[in-house]
Amino acid sequence: MKPIKIVFDKSYETDYRTVSCEVPGRVASIMDKLSPLYETVVPQPCSEDDILLCHSEGLLMVEKHDPVRYEIARKAAGGAIMAAKLALEGSISFAVVRPPGHHANPDHNWGFCFFNNMGIAVRKMLAEKIIDRAVILDIDLHFGDGTDAIFRYDEAVRVFNIQSSTRREFIEETRSALEDAGNAGILGISAGFDQYELDWGANLTTGDYHEIGVIAGTYARNFCSGRVFILLEGGYYLPDLGANALSLLTGVAEGVDEK
Ligand SMILES: [Zn+2]
Repeated sequence: MKPIKIVFDKSYETDYRTVSCEVPGRVASIMDKLSPLYETVVPQPCSEDDILLCHSEGLLMVEKHDPVRYEIARKAAGGAIMAAKLALEGSISFAVVRPPGHHANPDHNWGFCFFNNMGIAVRKMLAEKIIDRAVILDIDLHFGDGTDAIFRYDEAVRVFNIQSSTRREFIEETRSALEDAGNAGILGISAGFDQYELDWGANLTTGDYHEIGVIAGTYARNFCSGRVFILLEGGYYLPDLGANALSLLTGVAEGVDEK
């Protein structure tokens, strides 16, 4: 069985300037569930050069005007990089980060996102020639426009945004997207939990996250040498956020380790 590692830094629990629903309790509720079960590793912040792999100088300058949030956003992207590296070293990793990243476009951002954590991690692995191809699966309720814009013309990266609004269709769309994805050096999962039945999307159950995890883990085992990392994006129903995160993670592990 592959080891499971959680990437987390206390700074993710900072109450930085953002919208009122994107609260520190989001990562706290997930860590309440995951930290007793798995080893936690603490990341370094990413560098300015890492940010510039995906974003313009202009966006970087804008974000520096809020030094507190800038430092935490750098730590979130650094957490994503660490999660990708852990996956390449043989672990299954889950970076429980704030702020999220999938609405951060090359030169603008919105939707509680500042830098594109997934984009920066994948671009860095490609730039360092550790991998030559990546697949990104985004299961957040909202379309990951930032990640899509970053990789739209990049033949090395395929991005799948799953957008179905019923349970069965969502799971089947995930399955068929990955059937079509081909071989890659790594699978990155942009894990939003706002499709949950008690969250904004009013759709998936806790068990569905496990099923989606198994599908993704099985794909990673068959087509990505078992290399898979998960990054937190959305998810706002705090009472069940930790259970949903654990459900996805154990599903991924089950898929990867399947004999
Ligand atoms: Zn969302």
